[in-house]
Amino acid sequence: MNIVTIFDDLQLARNKLVNPLGLVPTMGALHAGHLSLIRRAREECQSTAVSIFVNPTQFAPLEDLKAYPRDVDRDLGLLEKEQVDLVWIPDAEELYPAHFQTWVEVDQLTKVLEGGFRPGHFRGVTTIVSKLFNAFQPQKAYFGQKDAQQTIVIQRMVKDLNYALEIVVCRTIREPDGLAISSRNAHLDPEQRKAASVLFQALSAAERAFNQGRHDAEQLRQIMREILEMETQAEVQYVSVANPTTLEELDGNADRALLSTAVLFGKTRLIDNVMVKNDKR
Ligand code: AMP
Repeated sequence: MNIVTIFDDLQLARNKLVNPLGLVPTMGALHAGHLSLIRRAREECQSTAVSIFVNPTQFAPLEDLKAYPRDVDRDLGLLEKEQVDLVWIPDAEELYPAHFQTWVEVDQLTKVLEGGFRPGHFRGVTTIVSKLFNAFQPQKAYFGQKDAQQTIVIQRMVKDLNYALEIVVCRTIREPDGLAISSRNAHLDPEQRKAASVLFQALSAAERAFNQGRHDAEQLRQIMREILEMETQAEVQYVSVANPTTLEELDGNADRALLSTAVLFGKTRLIDNVMVKNDKR
C-alpha cells in the first residue's frame, strides 16, 4: 500500500496504477460503512484508492471540525488489511493553499434539507470532491446512501461538469438496532445512543406504510414525525418526503421518494434516509 501526502507524489503513484481505478473519499475515523465502500471498489476495479481528509470547508464555524475523531494509524491498519493500493492523506495547506479562491457550487439541490441547516456545507463538499476527482482521475467513485443528498449533489456536479467517471452509491451499513453507522455516534452518551435508533424506526414505519400502498407524502411525513416526537431526547430538525431527483418536497401521492430526517441528540446531529419506490407502476 502506497501512502502519500504531497500532491506530486500522489500523481506519480496514481500513474503507476492500472485502470479502472476506484476512489473512496473519506474523512477518516474509518468504520464498517467506509469498509463496505472500499470492498465494493475492490470488487469492481483493478486498483483502489482512498483519501483521508477532514475537509475544513464543509464545516460551518460552530460545527464539530475540531472535535471530529482522528486516528490515522488505526485507519492505515484497516486500509492495509483491505489491500487498498493508494492512500492520500494531504495537509489542509496542500488542498487549500494561500489565496485559494476557486469553488465548485451546485445551485438548487444544495439549498434544501442538509443545505438549509448547514449553509456552505455542500460548497465545501463539491469543491473538495472535484479536487479529489481531478487529483486521482478515477473511473469510479464510491459514496454511501447514508448521505443521500450528498450523492445526489455529486451526481449533478459530475453531469454538469462532464466528469468522465461513474458514481457508485452503496447501501447504508447499520448497527443491529438499525442506527446508521457514523463516526458521530461516538459522541452519544449511553441514553442518547439507545434513543438514536428512533431515526431508523421512523423511516422504517414510513417505508412500510408506503409499501402497503399509503403513498400520500404528508401522511408519510406525519408517520415519521409521530415516532420521532415520542422520543423525548430527540430534537427533530426536519422530516422530509422529497423528489429524489430535484429534492423538492412532494405533495399528494408519491411514486418515488427520498424519506429523510435530521435529529439532534444534545449537540450530536444524526441524519438518515431511505429511498422508496412504487414497484406496481
Ligand atoms: P465520511 O468519512 O463521513 O465523509 O464518509 C465517507 C463515505 O462513507 C461517504 O460516502 C459516506 O456516505 C460513506 N458512509 C458513511 N457512513 C456510512 C454507512 N453507515 N454506510 C455506508 N456508507 C457510509
